[in-house]
Amino acid sequence: MQKTHEKVEDCLALDSRSMAKSAVFEDGRQGTWGWHNTSTGEEVAKIGYSYHNQQLTLHYQFNKQPYHYSINIETTPCHYGGMRYWFTCPDCHKRVAKLYLRDSAFSCRICQKLNYATQQENKLDGTRLVMCRIRNKLNWQYDNAWMKPYYKIRPKGMHQTTFNKLVDRHDQLENKTNRYLMASFKKLSDRYGAELVRT
Ligand SMILES: [Zn+2]
Repeated sequence: MQKTHEKVEDCLALDSRSMAKSAVFEDGRQGTWGWHNTSTGEEVAKIGYSYHNQQLTLHYQFNKQPYHYSINIETTPCHYGGMRYWFTCPDCHKRVAKLYLRDSAFSCRICQKLNYATQQENKLDGTRLVMCRIRNKLNWQYDNAWMKPYYKIRPKGMHQTTFNKLVDRHDQLENKTNRYLMASFKKLSDRYGAELVRT
């Protein structure tokens, strides 16, 4: 019996927008597509791909079985020119921006019966939100979850004690965020890590 209601966050996903950005959809293009742990940069999994004639073919191993999997790519025109790329879900044939890997096959969220994490389970987002609010209050420049220490600058006119308090609170939340992320990445790499390699 297949387990249903797994979380989207626990699955490896292909995003047609980021693939288009990396010029994957150029006729004759081939290469590998990898997933990375955003905190360590370490590669969690990768697959091989080739693109030809609006077909994206994926090559990968799952439970030591080799798979070759073809996905149709559709395009729609963008408002501001250029093209928007979409996958055709191999199961329901709907046009989707994301496909998820589960039980050796890629298909859309609906076909994979995936849920987003419930509010209660998804403590990460709440923690991150409060952390980002503190960063905004401090006028800190940041573009990801991990602040470089030398960006942690006291805004002009803020009392040192107020600043210290906010930084303490921020650092606690940052550590907490780290722990949640590490736990979920560990789960992900335990499940897929060594299994997905180019064939
Ligand atoms: Zn589908």
